[in-house]
Formats: sequence, C-alpha cells, structure tokens
Amino acid sequence: MSHYPDAKYPISDEEMLSLLHKYPFLRFRNVWTGKQTYHGKSKNLESNYYKYWDGYGWEDLWKNRYLPRLFAEYDTWDKETQKRFGFTQIKEKFGGLRIYTTFGSDKRLETIAEWLSEYICEYCGKETRTEEGKRVIWTTGGWITNLCEHCAREYILRNAEGELSEEDIQKYLNEMKCVQEKPFGYIQFGKDKNLHVSYKEIDDWLEKDKEEYIDK
Ligand SMILES: [Zn+2]
Repeated sequence: MSHYPDAKYPISDEEMLSLLHKYPFLRFRNVWTGKQTYHGKSKNLESNYYKYWDGYGWEDLWKNRYLPRLFAEYDTWDKETQKRFGFTQIKEKFGGLRIYTTFGSDKRLETIAEWLSEYICEYCGKETRTEEGKRVIWTTGGWITNLCEHCAREYILRNAEGELSEEDIQKYLNEMKCVQEKPFGYIQFGKDKNLHVSYKEIDDWLEKDKEEYIDK
C-alpha cells in the first residue's frame, strides 16, 4: 500500500520518468553536494518534488500553476544556470506555501505561489470569492491553517469541547473569515520614497500591474 495520499492530478510512471529526466531538480537531493537522497528506480518515481503536495489543497497550485511556469523559465536558461538551480526547502509556514530555491527567478514565481497559497484551502483546494470577486479565506488560530468555509466548519466541530450551536459555529466562522481587501504586491523600501508594486490576477496566476513611488 502506498503511503501517499491520492493525487488529484496523477501522472503515469512514464511521464514522471521523463519529467525527472528533463528537470532533475525535481529529484530529492542535497542541493549543495548534488547527491540524491533517494536511490532505486521505484523510489525515484514516488519520492520527488513533483508529487510533494499530492492529495493536499495546494496540489493544483503546485503542479498546474507554479511548476509549468518554472519549467518554462528553466528551459530558457543555459546549461550552467540549469545545473545551479535546485530547491533547498519546500514547506508550509504560517499557513502559506514556502518555496526556497538556490537562486530566485526574475519572475518571482515562488513569491506569487506563496501569496496565492494563502487564499487556497489547504485541505481541499477550494478558492472562495465574494460576489465582487474578492478572495476569502478562513484562518485558524494557533497553528495557522487557511481553509474554505466548509473545511473551517469541520475544523471547528473537530476541535469543539462539547456541543456547539449553529450560532456558536457562525460566530467562530466570522472570527476566522478574512476577505482580501488589498491587491497582492510588495513594498520596496527606499531612502526617500517607497516603491509599491501591485499585481493583478490573470489566468489563475499573478502578473505585475502597477508600480508607484510613494513619499515617506
Ligand atoms: Zn476546503
């Protein structure tokens, strides 16, 4: 029996082998020594970064949005640059997906994936929006987890001590609910002015929208 949860977007062993061949950074390895941390053909097929989020809410973000863009960028690099590229760490932190690489890409793919991950249910992958199209997420206290309303309700019921009324559940849900009011983006701090860079959503991904210098 497999130890891995079922993938929502499975691929054949043949396709997996070809991906590992084309993009060797998908193999688990010590990026500094280049040594593979898993050996043997069958293990190579299961234990790799491509399948890292199989069965989790971020599987679509990882496999269908982040990695294809990374592959496309990798394809444009020369051999030496390709050799230097690797994941140093991939993990969940404060409810967000963190992707650490040996060097950052110009397109900020890792940052964009992190921003989006915070509005994707970590359990089921649902992305909720208000009627006006704003993103919504329900965030647990303590160990931060970002969930959809349905999974947040299950979370509340699982962690409840004793019976909860519908009113109680609604109260908790309202406390957890967070609507995205500001666009995705970052601030680059300067001496006299700060640069505000905002992004807009295009095709399930983000692209740079506006850059604005604002006096301090
Ligand atoms: Zn969910």
